[in-house]
Amino acid sequence: MNEIQKLYPSMDGNDFQREELLSFFKSILTKIDELKDPNKLTLGEMPEYTEDYYNRVIQKASVPNTGVSMEEVVQELLKLVEGHRFVNRNYVANAAPLPNIASILGNLVMVLVNGNNLWDVEGPAAAKAEVEVAAMLSKLIGYDESISAGYTTWGGQGAVFNSLRLAIARYEPFSNQNGVPQNLYCFCSELSHYSLLKSVEATGIGIENMIRVKVNADHSINLEDLKEKMEHIIAKGGVPLYVLATMGTTDTFGVDDIKGIKHIAVEMERTYGIDPIYIHADSAMGGMYTFFNNYSFESNTLQFTDNVIEVLKSYQQKFKNIKLADSMVFDFHKLGQTPYITSLFLIKNKEYLKNVDLDAVETPYVGNRGYGSYHTGYTLECSRMGSALAIYASLLAFGIEGYQKLLANYIHVNIAFRETLKREFPNVAITNEVSPITTFRFYPEKNKWNGELNGLLTIEEMTEINQFNDEFAEMIGTERDTVYFGFTKKQCLVEAANSNDRISIYAHKFFAISPYSTIEEVDRYVGFLKEHLELFMKTTVVKV
Ligand SMILES: *Cc1c(COP(=O)(O)O)cnc(C)c1O
Repeated sequence: MNEIQKLYPSMDGNDFQREELLSFFKSILTKIDELKDPNKLTLGEMPEYTEDYYNRVIQKASVPNTGVSMEEVVQELLKLVEGHRFVNRNYVANAAPLPNIASILGNLVMVLVNGNNLWDVEGPAAAKAEVEVAAMLSKLIGYDESISAGYTTWGGQGAVFNSLRLAIARYEPFSNQNGVPQNLYCFCSELSHYSLLKSVEATGIGIENMIRVKVNADHSINLEDLKEKMEHIIAKGGVPLYVLATMGTTDTFGVDDIKGIKHIAVEMERTYGIDPIYIHADSAMGGMYTFFNNYSFESNTLQFTDNVIEVLKSYQQKFKNIKLADSMVFDFHKLGQTPYITSLFLIKNKEYLKNVDLDAVETPYVGNRGYGSYHTGYTLECSRMGSALAIYASLLAFGIEGYQKLLANYIHVNIAFRETLKREFPNVAITNEVSPITTFRFYPEKNKWNGELNGLLTIEEMTEINQFNDEFAEMIGTERDTVYFGFTKKQCLVEAANSNDRISIYAHKFFAISPYSTIEEVDRYVGFLKEHLELFMKTTVVKV
């Protein structure tokens, strides 16, 4: 074996080289385990992020002239890990996953055989896993798996972009040749993710042509406003092309009524003789809750408590209609707990892909041989990672019931958190009534949330309350090592007593995503807030 060959796994599967590789894995796992501390959010100490931190990194960086030993490579990698946030029970900030073991193994297999998911000849494992998970999940949500299609892509945002591309090509098949027509309009709720903003920008539709629709008290899109705005666009000669139906808003888990959206779309199509309006369900956050679509709450075999069932039932009502969407997404790297990036974009009808697929003459490199029958020439990526392997492994290991238990626990913990929070703080308001995310806001004196919701407070008063919460978030943020809460500056928009402009509500976020965030932990979370708020109130001059 020459020196360069030593840098690779074996060719013949010999024991020696396998043991060597395993020993590196073992060093890495052992060191990471040594750094774990259930009372902290980081692996070891966080580095000091001084102003010139990255400048110093840049200055020091250079490729070594001769390669270093593998032991040293491992040491250097482990230095990067030092101080890394590690999603455990102390992380209640956002939808960041602790990848489950099956998904880690799926990823490892993906790397070891390193298929290219572009073409089954180059990546048969990923191709088969991709076809299989697309079919599994189509069946689960109620798409016809014989006509649906799916592929893994660059996140929930990639799914939005891909869906918009399909919508444009379905409306104007020659847009590939001639460019995007000028008068296309997209609609989304004002609490939808910025993915659509980026997509209208990148497709050339333009941000001016993205229409933001008001939301209801439960953070779902307001259907009257949607209809009114569509009619307005049609009246001025525009084409309503696309609706983004958010199924679980990022901060507050508002779920749009997709049946209602579909109804309006069909009504517009009939009344005005326009082309079908494309609906993409942005289910990056909520998609996993389709795992309850067929759960029987009567037999309740998993013995969920009544308050959890109440929430799950309301989700089932909404998520069972997701099949009305032309496409949707599963972001496993959010609530499904797999590594980044594991997003499956699912399309109701694979015919849509024909409009964006490449001609065989345009792909002289791959896919145009007599062999191989799976070629994803329609994706925006060329080479693609086989992340379906991680999804596949995870689905096998959890099964529907495993995911149901995981997802129900998020809700269980949130309900307990809300109850404890309200009991412990007279000056707190829970600002969303839907799990599995709790947003909440503190007041210098007493809870004024009802007044804020009903437009009774002035801009100045609300700004001051926002400020109060912002400063408190900064304070507890410096101790995110102990418990890390999220914070949002646009939880929702409310009217003010003295202005026509609506104002953004700032709120803290409790997003219990780790399987180690159980209800036994709730007192700790609330205790952390209590201790710090008392200190904060003492040290802050209260004006409101
Ligand atoms: C997170 C999120 C996205 C973006 O997903 P990525 O996987 O981060 O690209 C899009 N839409 C919603 C509603 C989200 O919550």
